[in-house]
Amino acid sequence: MKFKDLKEFIDSIGDMVIVVGKDRRIIAVNEAMLRKCGLKEADVVGKECHRISRCLKIPCPSGVACPLREVLTSGRVKRMVHTHYTRDGRKMVVEITASPLKENGETVGIIEIIRDVTAAYSLQENLKASLERFKKTVKIKELFTDILTHDLINVANIVLLQCETILDREKCEDTREDLKRLKRNVERLVVMIENAARYARLQSIDSLDFRRMDLHEVLKNVVSTLEESARERNITIDLRVHEPVLAMVNPNIESVFYNLISNAIKFSPRGERVVVDILDEGEEYLILVKDRGPGIPDEEKERIFERFKRVEKGAVKGTGLGLAIVKRIVELHGGRVWVEDNPGGGSIFYVRIPKEQR
Ligand code: ADP
Repeated sequence: MKFKDLKEFIDSIGDMVIVVGKDRRIIAVNEAMLRKCGLKEADVVGKECHRISRCLKIPCPSGVACPLREVLTSGRVKRMVHTHYTRDGRKMVVEITASPLKENGETVGIIEIIRDVTAAYSLQENLKASLERFKKTVKIKELFTDILTHDLINVANIVLLQCETILDREKCEDTREDLKRLKRNVERLVVMIENAARYARLQSIDSLDFRRMDLHEVLKNVVSTLEESARERNITIDLRVHEPVLAMVNPNIESVFYNLISNAIKFSPRGERVVVDILDEGEEYLILVKDRGPGIPDEEKERIFERFKRVEKGAVKGTGLGLAIVKRIVELHGGRVWVEDNPGGGSIFYVRIPKEQR
C-alpha cells in the first residue's frame, strides 16, 4: 500500500493510529494522534518509535511495553490496556490494539489503534468504589440490625423485668408511680427497637413467601387482640366482613391490619366507631379502615408512610415507623396503601392487594 493511500485511510479513523515498520521506524501517524499529541507529521514520520515518547505531549503507548516484537514474531493481533501519567500529571488510560501490517503476505510492521478510554475507565473505577462503599454500608446495617434484634432488645427486656420485680415489692405510692412511668417508657423503647429491627429486615429483602390465607380470619384475630384497648376508649370496631376471603398473602399481612386498626383506635375520639371492610375488586381486594379521628392534612398524606414522619398529634404517642412498615409489607405483596379523607370526618386507610401472586 502506498503511503498516501495508507495515510488517507488511517486519517479517516477517529482513534489514534500509528504505523510502525519492522525497523521500529514510524511509517505513518493519523491526524487524531497528531492532534492529541500536538505534533506535526514531519516530527514523527521516519523517526524511531521508542524515541517518539520524548516529543509527545502524552507518553507514547508504543514506547511502553511495546508490542512490536511480539506481533512481528507471532503475526497475531495483541490487545492491551495501559495506564499512563501525562507530563502534567493527568492519568490517561489507553486501549491498544496492535495488528500485523502485511504487504504481499509478508509482515512488514504493525499498525496500532490507540483509544483513549480514560473517561470510561474512571467511570468504571468510580462504580467499583461505590459498590465497595455500598457493600460496607450494607454490612454495617446488618450489624446494627443484629445488635438491635439481639443485644439491645435483650437488655431492654431485662430492664423491663427488673421494673416489674421492683414494682411488685414497692409500697411507697410516689415511687410506684415513678416506676410505672419508667416501665411505660421501657415498653416504648422495646416497641421502637422491635420496629426498627423489623423495618431494617423488611428493607433488606425483596420478596416474601406467600400462602393461601383467609383475610376475614386474619382481621377477626386482629380485632379480638385490639378489643380491650378499644373498650378502654369506648370505641366500637365494626368488622363488616363475615365470609371467608381467600388470598395469597404472607402472614406479615396481619401486622398491616394491626397497625391500621390500632392507629384508628388511637386517633379516634372516645365513643366513636372504627369501620373495617373488604371489597372484592376482581383481581384484587381493597381493605379499608375508616375512623372519625382528626384526619390527615393533604400535605402529610404521603409523608406519613415514610419512616419517622409523625404529624404532631399532641398527647398521642408512637414511634413513627408503623406506617413505613405497613407500606413495605404491602409493596412486597405487589399492592398499594394510601389514605383519603373520610367524608364524615376522619380518615380512610386503603390497602389494595392482588388475590393471587404472579
Ligand atoms: P406512630 O407510631 O407514630 O403512630 P405510624 O407510622 O403508625 O407511627 O403513624 C405515623 C403518623 O401518621 C402518626 O404519628 C400520625 O401522625 C399519623 N396517623 C396515622 N394513622 C392515623 C389516623 N388513623 N388518624 C390520624 N393520623 C394518623
